[in-house]
Amino acid sequence: MIKKIEHLGIAVESIEKSLVIFEKLLNQKMYKTEVVTSEAVKTAFITLGESKIELLEATDPSSSIAKFLNKNREGFHHLALDVDDIEFEIARLKKEGFVLIHEQPKNGADNKKIAFLHPKSTNGMLIELCEELV
Ligand code: ZN
Repeated sequence: MIKKIEHLGIAVESIEKSLVIFEKLLNQKMYKTEVVTSEAVKTAFITLGESKIELLEATDPSSSIAKFLNKNREGFHHLALDVDDIEFEIARLKKEGFVLIHEQPKNGADNKKIAFLHPKSTNGMLIELCEELV
């Protein structure tokens, strides 16, 4: 089951600079930063009701975030959906014709199993599935 929007991923040049804006905007402090070495990305999370904003900064020019920012302005990068059974949703979405970047879930930031859908099957939008690890 897809439960809710888990977070919106926002690509930024500098988490430090962006946090000044987002913390004021949402009137909250971020609750964690985390480097995901496998993705060459630094993340920061701010709670927003039942969802979150995830700021993403490249830690290396080879990072997908660095490549994104070479082509796009800072801003919306991906929509993350909270699911209760990621393997089930991957199989369901494959059957529906979606293309997965990750056919097997991998470990993501903020204690999650994650998998991304390929934008070519979602009208250009990057979608992340997340299942909370317990
Ligand atoms: Zn994300």
